[in-house]
Amino acid sequence: MTDTQNPQLPPNAIRHPECGQWWTGATRAHCPACHRTFSVDSAADKHRRGAHGVNRHCVDPSTVGLVPVDKSYGVLWQNPGSDGDIWPARNGESA
Ligand SMILES: [Zn+2]
Ligand SMILES: [Zn+2]
Repeated sequence: MTDTQNPQLPPNAIRHPECGQWWTGATRAHCPACHRTFSVDSAADKHRRGAHGVNRHCVDPSTVGLVPVDKSYGVLWQNPGSDGDIWPARNGESA
């Protein structure tokens, strides 16, 4: 692939070069295995099951109580009842 930067990405976008997905928000957690994006580390932790280095694997986030939220960059998985972050958004992210 030769495209290295999508000109439509906002300046605060974070992009995962392996899959090309991007997101905004410094607290986001992007899984390097299944390439889903989570609102915070604690949410990402929930979709990982098994022991580190043994049988660590990803499960469908919807089966572990996480809820999908449509964002401009795709689906963000977050903890239920959360407004998105444990810290208030400071970077002007909307929608
Ligand atoms: Zn995963
Ligand atoms: Zn990725």
